[in-house]
Amino acid sequence: MATRTPPSRPDLDALDRGLLDAVAAGEVRLTPGQGLDLHRRAPLHLLGRYADARCRTLHGDTVRTYIIDRNINYTNVCTAKCTFCAFRRDADDHDAYTLEHEALYEKIAELVAIGGTQILMQGGMNPALPLSWYTDLLRGIKERFPGVHVHGFSPPEFIEFVHFFDPPGTPGAPLFDKILTVMRPLRDAGLDSVPGGGGEIFSHPVRRKIGLGKCDAEAWLTVMRAAHSLGMFTSATMMFGHIEGIADRVHHMALVREWQDRSLREFGAGVEDEHGRVRPGGHYKAFISWPFQRENTPLGRLKDWGSLPEEQGPDAVFPADAIATLSGEYDAKAHPEFGRRVRTAGATEYLRTQAVSRLMLDNVYSIGASWVTMGPHIGQVALHYGANDMGSVMMEENVVSSAGTTYCLNEPVLCRLIRDAGFTPAQRDNTYDLLRLHDGPRSPDLLVADWSKHRAKRLHTEAKPVAKPVQVRVPAAQR
Ligand code: SF4
Repeated sequence: MATRTPPSRPDLDALDRGLLDAVAAGEVRLTPGQGLDLHRRAPLHLLGRYADARCRTLHGDTVRTYIIDRNINYTNVCTAKCTFCAFRRDADDHDAYTLEHEALYEKIAELVAIGGTQILMQGGMNPALPLSWYTDLLRGIKERFPGVHVHGFSPPEFIEFVHFFDPPGTPGAPLFDKILTVMRPLRDAGLDSVPGGGGEIFSHPVRRKIGLGKCDAEAWLTVMRAAHSLGMFTSATMMFGHIEGIADRVHHMALVREWQDRSLREFGAGVEDEHGRVRPGGHYKAFISWPFQRENTPLGRLKDWGSLPEEQGPDAVFPADAIATLSGEYDAKAHPEFGRRVRTAGATEYLRTQAVSRLMLDNVYSIGASWVTMGPHIGQVALHYGANDMGSVMMEENVVSSAGTTYCLNEPVLCRLIRDAGFTPAQRDNTYDLLRLHDGPRSPDLLVADWSKHRAKRLHTEAKPVAKPVQVRVPAAQR
């Protein structure tokens, strides 16, 4: 991405067509206030039109991408107790698991067999696993599958690694340095990039309510900055449609944008590693947002705002909208119902939020559609609301499907969705370089004669166990 920051025009109304044309062209940056105004006031199709125009400026008119990777959740044991999570377990729960390294290798072999290029490896924050468990695993992966890109360990996991491993020599050191102390060995063992899991919503009042035991926004962003300083690419995420206000969503996007500016400025020209070699610097490559899935979660047991019309009254304002600010700091007690009502997001709210993210995040290259939670066809529509990428063919999914139904698609279906949306599908790698452009008759979707065998599958953990429980034994010497 360019390191030049476009100027803002705070004097213009958010719906000014000249402003929106300039934003779509990348010539002007929306202020957070304009982003909030757009989210609240813009007709959905207007938002879609300008988000699509911005997407076309960055990615052209013809190609939209996907990746073949595998989501591997190596453990469900977690010290945090996020109220939106149906995946975590305590270590002594009967269905707590940690995958053996060999089980992970088997999953990766299955991925490679279908042409996959990347694993997305995240887990709970499990204090029983020593640093060597991770470094041995990464080395084992790279020895067996040197071509597989390891996109692994979200920022909250890194913060817990710092707490668990208490790197020698770091007491009192800045958090950035402590993170590097655990991140470097992981990078050297084979970690290629860092996914944006655990972003949720950055504003403190919301995060304190829903992310019990999870790191705060500053720590999350600092992990990513550390990754960028080592030359790694990362992504950023946002989970919305729960107790947050619209201002919280825009604040979240603005923070990603601000820290991206910082990384591009500090590391864009390259970074010198510990051996004195200059390497390319890292930054956020992508932003992906999705609505909260409520089933089986403590947060989902709260009453839905939309289900209480008589209590709300026709003019009632959602609690967080009454008090949330664009600074992300406000008094949660200022509204007695804050955190006691959820406002779940459907398809149009999802498209609206994604479109605003495309317009706000002028310095982030890719916006990913979230068909995993929204379903394949809304994912397809999302390609006209600012998304350029359909994410991954989904071989398995454990975290979100624990909290509701998610979808599983194979490569022909994903290609067909992209083509039916008016684009040429292309398989990409983690850096968004195209691996295979499907513009000929041998394309995965064009080879299918019988689509009845290629339907999207639904995943739901009530119908299917989270994973086969496998307890890992950690040698006493490593504990
Ligand atoms: S969302 Fe992640 S960090 Fe939070 S409880 Fe679940 S597994 Fe743990």
